[in-house]
Amino acid sequence: MTIFLSQMVFLITALAFVYGLKLMAFPKTARLGNFIGAFAMGLAVFFTLLIEKPTNLWPIMATMAFGSIAGVLGAQKVKMTSMPQFVALLNGFGGIASVFVSFAEIQKFSYLSIIGPVFFIVSSWFSIVVGAITFSGSLIAYLKLEELIETKPLFINGQRVLSFFILLISLFSVIYLINNPDDFTGFLITALIAVILGVLLVLPIGGADMPVVISLLNSYSGIAAMAAGFVVKSNLLIIAGSLVGASGIILTKLMCQAMNRSLMNVVFGAFGKSKSFQGLMEEKPMREFLPIDVALLLANAQRVIIVPGYGLAVSQAQRNLRDLGDELKKKNIKVSYAIHPVAGRMPGHMNVLLAEADISYDELFDLDLINNEFENADVAIVVGANDVVNPESRTNKNSPLYGMPILNADKAKTVVVLKRGKGKGFSQVENPLFTLENTGVVFGDAKSSLGKIVQELKAI
Ligand code: NAP
Repeated sequence: MTIFLSQMVFLITALAFVYGLKLMAFPKTARLGNFIGAFAMGLAVFFTLLIEKPTNLWPIMATMAFGSIAGVLGAQKVKMTSMPQFVALLNGFGGIASVFVSFAEIQKFSYLSIIGPVFFIVSSWFSIVVGAITFSGSLIAYLKLEELIETKPLFINGQRVLSFFILLISLFSVIYLINNPDDFTGFLITALIAVILGVLLVLPIGGADMPVVISLLNSYSGIAAMAAGFVVKSNLLIIAGSLVGASGIILTKLMCQAMNRSLMNVVFGAFGKSKSFQGLMEEKPMREFLPIDVALLLANAQRVIIVPGYGLAVSQAQRNLRDLGDELKKKNIKVSYAIHPVAGRMPGHMNVLLAEADISYDELFDLDLINNEFENADVAIVVGANDVVNPESRTNKNSPLYGMPILNADKAKTVVVLKRGKGKGFSQVENPLFTLENTGVVFGDAKSSLGKIVQELKAI
């Protein structure tokens, strides 16, 4: 009865994972989706313990309590801008968990007679290799993003040949393990080799490309968990792992598309090196706007589109941005927020920031939906965005950004840019938008500039 009940619960849990994922695709329902997924996972753990009946429950309970407390405290403490490295750590833990699950199962040799050694050994080997690569690769991604090691691409002499050689050893180790299934040391060495491979694969990738790499490693952690599911014969783990693996790879693909880069270019080519663009442009002066100039412009506008970017996250100005939006709406000015898929430094970065400030989802528009609207906008306010509004990506074939879909902020009647100085964006490419005749720049930290504009607007 318990087994039948558990299987039913596992089926419902699997459906809940799929439904939770679906809900996570929309900002409005993402929290509910996350809750449903977490709740389903809790149920799955509970019923697994119920049918497996471990002889000593205490170490499991203690580990779960430790993990849960660390997870809650970590998630509460981590700053929004540090979310990618937090996710990297979680991926790494997922990878190493799959390695440990396989290690534990390999030591129960009774399995060999039940499932047949080859399938069992290949699944274990796969879970160990992918899990160990995910673990070490994610740790390197974390260290790079926390700037605890050099964030620039790091190459060792003969790096590619070495990685290729190690990859071959990892692949061929499966043949040895199939023939020597009781050689536990062989599995340990395989894991160690995969750890080295993970380090070698991620070290040559620049820190700024890490979000894409993290999304890829997220997919690997799912694939490792799926393989571990075959090892322990858990359908639910196979389903959960496949969902993570598939969604991670879809996210990676979408991010690469939005940056107009191939995955190969992200993983094997340091950004900007692939094209000969030097970023040398005739230095034109930027026209300066004072907060009062912007307030007067806005007071006379009917349609305003706000383009948030990475600088909004740096200055944590999301609440001040909402104040500006509220003030504009009080004056019956139509306000929309244009969201570029790779604005900021992680997927959904701008959605999360704006949601934190309680800006209504109905006012947020994706690139495809808003781009034609810029022509009708009186003012486009670019808050700490740069690459995602660089018009050269449409025209300059030598630019590393060429072909990347951008927000058409330059097509608005007037463009107001909030930035601190002459700083470039992630791509280190000059942006001619800032020197166009219809553009004015308010220099300073976005939070302080927005505050001043709101004050001036209130006074009008
Ligand atoms: P961006 O191109 O990196 O530009 C950020 C701009 O913000 C800079 O021009 C900077 O100029 C300004 N800024 C920084 N701090 C500021 C502050 N405190 N106050 C006001 N302005 C500030 O940002 P983006 O337009 O959002 O583009 C994102 C880039 O990251 C894209 O190239 C994308 O491909 C890349 N990327 C995104 C992801 C992702 O998942 N979203 C992942 C990897 C890479 P000043 O220094 O002059 O202030």
